[in-house]
Amino acid sequence: MVTTHNLGFPRTGFKRELKFALEAYWKGQSSLAMLEQVGTELRARHWRDQAGLDLAPVGDFSFYDQVLDMSFMLGNLPTRVRDFHGEQLDNYFRVARGRSAAVAEENTGCCGGVAAGEMTKWFDTNYHYIVPEFDAETTFTLDASRLLSQLDEARKQGIRTKPVIIGPITYLALGKAKDGSDKLDLLPRLLPVYARLLDALAQTGAGWVQIDEPVLVTELDASWQNAFVQTYQALDTRRVKLLLATYFGQLRENLALVSRLPVQGVHLDTINAREEVAELVKTSPPDRIISLGIVNGRNIWKTDLEATLDWLEPVAKLLGDRLWIAPSCSLLHVPVDLAAEEKMDAEISSWLAFAVQKLDEIRVLALALDRGRSAVTSELVTNRAALDSRHSSPRVNNPDVKKAIAAITESLGRRMSEFGARAAKQAALLQLPLYPTTTIGSFPQTREIRLARSQFKSGKIDEGTYKATMRREIEHAVREQEKLGLDVLVHGEAERNDMVEYFGEQLEGYVFSQNGWVQSYGSRCVKPPILFGDISRPKAMTVEWISYAASLTDKPMKGMLTGPVTILNWSFVRDDQPRSASCFQLALAIRDEVLDLEKAGIRIIQIDEAALREGLPLRKSQWQDYLTWAVEAFCIAANGVADETQIHTHMCYSEFNDIIAAIAAMDADVITIETSRSDMELLDVFETFNYPNQIGPGVYDIHSPNIPTEAQMVTLMEKANERIPAQRLWVNPDCGLKTRQWNEVIPALVNMVRAARTLREKS
Ligand code: GLN
Ligand code: ZN
Repeated sequence: MVTTHNLGFPRTGFKRELKFALEAYWKGQSSLAMLEQVGTELRARHWRDQAGLDLAPVGDFSFYDQVLDMSFMLGNLPTRVRDFHGEQLDNYFRVARGRSAAVAEENTGCCGGVAAGEMTKWFDTNYHYIVPEFDAETTFTLDASRLLSQLDEARKQGIRTKPVIIGPITYLALGKAKDGSDKLDLLPRLLPVYARLLDALAQTGAGWVQIDEPVLVTELDASWQNAFVQTYQALDTRRVKLLLATYFGQLRENLALVSRLPVQGVHLDTINAREEVAELVKTSPPDRIISLGIVNGRNIWKTDLEATLDWLEPVAKLLGDRLWIAPSCSLLHVPVDLAAEEKMDAEISSWLAFAVQKLDEIRVLALALDRGRSAVTSELVTNRAALDSRHSSPRVNNPDVKKAIAAITESLGRRMSEFGARAAKQAALLQLPLYPTTTIGSFPQTREIRLARSQFKSGKIDEGTYKATMRREIEHAVREQEKLGLDVLVHGEAERNDMVEYFGEQLEGYVFSQNGWVQSYGSRCVKPPILFGDISRPKAMTVEWISYAASLTDKPMKGMLTGPVTILNWSFVRDDQPRSASCFQLALAIRDEVLDLEKAGIRIIQIDEAALREGLPLRKSQWQDYLTWAVEAFCIAANGVADETQIHTHMCYSEFNDIIAAIAAMDADVITIETSRSDMELLDVFETFNYPNQIGPGVYDIHSPNIPTEAQMVTLMEKANERIPAQRLWVNPDCGLKTRQWNEVIPALVNMVRAARTLREKS
């Protein structure tokens, strides 16, 4: 008999109950007991959703982040929160979110303000975790109380449980040594605590423990490989059985290592590493459990059940009872339940599977393996029909798009002239001063804007009223920018809810869910649009708004678009063609928009690629392949314009060292980047690479409510000028201003424009 299990379940609830409970608690509108109650109810509901499985995960629930949970379980609290004497969960939130001194005083009268823990992306997902903090003095002490009480809860509910923890090597690898010490030196102190944790779990009668080591799908040097051996030998107490879980990629050179580790089970993500199944089976000890992740935990498509059975049946025959099946990874990365979608197009929703549906697929596949396909004939027929309908739907396949893709040539993505010649023509046309000033695109999304949008969506106001409101907002933004004396204006993006959704809603080939929320971090959830078919642009998407804004002023108006790579990386994408193919389709649609803007007389067009870096594969050896097609897609979108048209791009991060060649290959006339917090040091790489085009290094940290002074910004730009000649520098904020208030934005930009004037006078 095959065993079915799950690695983790989404924790927010299909109505984002956890989000609202957390936010109410943080605002002081509910009690800790009420928050705990919501957590208990969500766990109970989610275990019920998983009741058909042989083993359900416990410990995957979290009030904020499973990595931070692990830090607390291991007693690895940052020194700055150790002296807190309130509730443990309050202290946990202090690390998760930080606390200003004033708020701390008011609520607890205790311990002053505290800086939040750093947050970063969990592998190549859009989930963000709180980075564990280490130094040479770090010690560990076990506090497994939360996990143990949840195990108890689940058992009382009649659930067959499998506790889930993050493995010691992944935990160390994800953390940061604040003093630059070697994290692996902590292993001798960490392992006894893990051993005690496993003992504690054993005492509760846990048979299996899932120990997540996704770091095994990345490149590990010899010291980390050795650490794996040392660790799992030390933890091989046999009081519990360990299921070593790997996911998000292939094991490759780490496969031999995994085979050797003394663990009783290994989970492999066969969505990414199907070709490694045979080798893993062959090289594993003969009594080891092999758990195969056969349903994609990262996307929202139905599994092809028959195709899965075709390759899985022989493996099942070989493994017999040693085979477990599960989703490829935790279902944290997909929405909870398709049943919550009442408005979605029925044809499209018949192609989809959210977490609950994915577990149904696991159960069907298990039945087919145990009793033969005939035991699940009707499920297989329904599944086949859905896949056929998706495969042959004219909404998925658009021959015109395929033709346009086939006609892409090398020259499509190349500007007519090289940068120097373009820059001269653009300078003659635009007549901008030295150190030109601009912003990144959005101005504050005020309450009125959001209200008008929601009233329009719900039919409370008509299109005319909505558009008139947006126009007033645009006019307001234009007038404010004129008053400020900015050189290149923007329309302010009032009409955009979100920089990807806005475009997705207007492109053919996209669909939107009502409740398809996925946790991004803490209480924050995103609803990625679903890219299901060939992408086309039925009509211009931004020209009307931008032209209106341009008509209000004599200053140059910058058109504002989101780039193809960012749209792709923030969507659920097709699994029936490579990511690059979808990206090229998006590129052609954006290209048409760029050319329409140019035709409408817009001479500066910005194409944001905020998420270019996010798409980088987990293994460095695969970066080049991604960067090649991603850059090409950007170039196709951007580079069809005349020499006189100035292309800008914007990226809101500050790590360019390892991708500078790709950035240069995009050949944007101007790139604006986030720099204000790094003291312009990140421009070093632009200097050493001899990056030839213009750069706007952000001088105003828009994430903070602080108003930067003129002097601060002058100093930053002077530092920039030590690396890049003034003729190639722009002055702008780090990112868009949509999350700020007008009363913060105005004084900051007043200072920014003054700083630019001062710089001009000095040079
Ligand atoms: N143009 C967008 C804005 O100003 C860019 C946002 C981003 O880079 N994240 O909001
Ligand atoms: Zn940005």
